[in-house]
Amino acid sequence: MNTAMSTPQLTIDLAALADNWRALDSLTDCETAAVVKANAYGMGAAQAVQTLVKAGARHFFVALAEEGATVRQALGPGPRISVFSGHMPGDHDLIAAHDLTPMLNSIDQMLHHVEALPGHSFGIQLDSGMNRLGMEAAEWAALREIALAQNPVLIMSHLACADEPDHPMNAAQLNNFIEMTADIGVPRSLAATGGILLGSGYHFDLTRPGVGLYGGLPFAQARSVVALDLPIIQIRDIDEGETVGYGNTWYAQRPSRIATVAAGYADGLIRAMGPRAQLFADTARCPVVGRISMDLITADVTDLAQEPQSLSILGPTQTVDDLADAAGTIGYEILTSLGARYQREYLT
Ligand SMILES: *Cc1c(COP(=O)(O)O)cnc(C)c1O
Repeated sequence: MNTAMSTPQLTIDLAALADNWRALDSLTDCETAAVVKANAYGMGAAQAVQTLVKAGARHFFVALAEEGATVRQALGPGPRISVFSGHMPGDHDLIAAHDLTPMLNSIDQMLHHVEALPGHSFGIQLDSGMNRLGMEAAEWAALREIALAQNPVLIMSHLACADEPDHPMNAAQLNNFIEMTADIGVPRSLAATGGILLGSGYHFDLTRPGVGLYGGLPFAQARSVVALDLPIIQIRDIDEGETVGYGNTWYAQRPSRIATVAAGYADGLIRAMGPRAQLFADTARCPVVGRISMDLITADVTDLAQEPQSLSILGPTQTVDDLADAAGTIGYEILTSLGARYQREYLT
């Protein structure tokens, strides 16, 4: 029987996702939300939120209103869905129709929101030093009383350096956030995955983990969520001195067996990781040789005793962060780059 396909298989372990949420939840005494922006970091928003709501999550965060609509369709009414980008005028219909809670980022957004959707839930995003999203201290001071009179459901800010526990920016932002929100009587949130690990002083009333749910650093204890197996299309024997791939960047220093697998940079396997990445046959390493092509990768399988049908590029042996290191990037980018050509299988 030979049922081998050419389509690479992406396996997403929803049980591990739920375990990671519970593990992050157990590190705090406050509520734990879940960040599911960018299609749940590439894992599939509908499957992710349905799993997380069963694990106990009641508050979900997305980047854009459009993403919020998708999440609402998957969840139905009940759980809160908050939008980091706030209330842009063109998002009005989506925010109203899908009961989304915008995190308002400016006086303009605030005025627009209370005028367009009076009485509709909202939160406030403050800038505590990252200078990316949210109201500045002076802007907030001017708006504070008006905003509080409208009953925001959450006041939040975001840390710039939480993955570096010793960075002085963490304490500086914490102090700014405390100053801006002292005696406010509204639930507060500062910590994403990194902030949870900084300790209870950063937890406030709600945490917003993203990457740790999906198995990425800085949550080193995370269970691996994603596995990616690449079918071998062809195996060939080459002589010492022969070259492999575009640009002849690799040549055989001994007689070698080369396997060609069916995935490449068009599938999010970043070309820059090139020869620093490995493929695996179980736990046996097969170094990537030559350049990564759009749809194909070549690997040295000379030392394998048996010919496997596929090689693994992501899984417990080589994590998203290992692959990110090889490519000079971060696990977040590996996850969110995983392409559309995979056959996706969800383990429950
Ligand atoms: C993406 C994001 C998060 C989640 O961050 P992780 O590092 O993935 O845990 C939380 N809050 C805000 C504002 C974000 O943009």
